[in-house]
Amino acid sequence: TVEIRNLHKSFGKLEVLKGIDFSVETGQVVCVIGPSGSGKSTLLRCVNLLEQPTSGQVFVDGIELTHPDVDIDAARRRLGMVFQQFNLFAHLTVLRNVTIAQERVLKRPRAEAVRIARENLEKVGLSEKAESYPAQLSGGQQQRVAIARALAMNPSLMLFDEPTSALDPELVGDVLQVMRRLAEDGMTMLVVTHEMGFAREVADRVVFMDQGVIVEDGPPAQVIAAPQHNRTREFLHRVL
Ligand code: ATP
Ligand code: MG
Repeated sequence: TVEIRNLHKSFGKLEVLKGIDFSVETGQVVCVIGPSGSGKSTLLRCVNLLEQPTSGQVFVDGIELTHPDVDIDAARRRLGMVFQQFNLFAHLTVLRNVTIAQERVLKRPRAEAVRIARENLEKVGLSEKAESYPAQLSGGQQQRVAIARALAMNPSLMLFDEPTSALDPELVGDVLQVMRRLAEDGMTMLVVTHEMGFAREVADRVVFMDQGVIVEDGPPAQVIAAPQHNRTREFLHRVL
């Protein structure tokens, strides 16, 4: 689970998050939608403390990440993160990309890391690419490697920041399919996305953010199909 309480984040005078409250329960998929600049990425980056919140609290599995005494590295290991840019190591094979953090961070023996890497590469449909290098893969395949790499760390929560928005349109479907299967397997997921079809079909809840606040939070049948607020309606008009 993730719980965010009264989260504020400013960059200098610019107040980007203005008091965010929400939670993601175990096994839930929550999609965050909203206009460019509304603070979606900043919110995700505050959840894993890539940004230090100005005030407020973030709890993951009951542990307060924002507590001054918390072991950030240990707490962060509970989170898997997938970005728009896949950030694979270009000079390493796919298999090595998925084993390296398991060995260095989790101290898993090589054989175990390889076994877990292969399991996760199979999960994302890339078993046959284990010995390839990132440059030999399509963008969609690289993003699936990034997902396998995150999963291999056994996160209790997966964070996705627009994982398909850098992809050619024909490659988007495979990545969404992998995410859909993860959701069906019960993974807890917080997903920033512009893919309204995915949000509508997969999300348990959709959160609409605008100008640093949550305007609406509810099931997709409400937020996407029957929004209560003008700002949500205007946004959906533009993207649907
Ligand atoms: P997009 O849909 O374009 O990805 P977003 O909702 O993810 O937008 P953020 O990236 O969270 O928006 O940015 C929110 C605001 O915070 C923007 O005005 C951005 O310029 C500002 N911002 C983000 N990161 C920083 C930073 N490190 N320093 C200063 N300003 C920042
Ligand atoms: Mg963003």
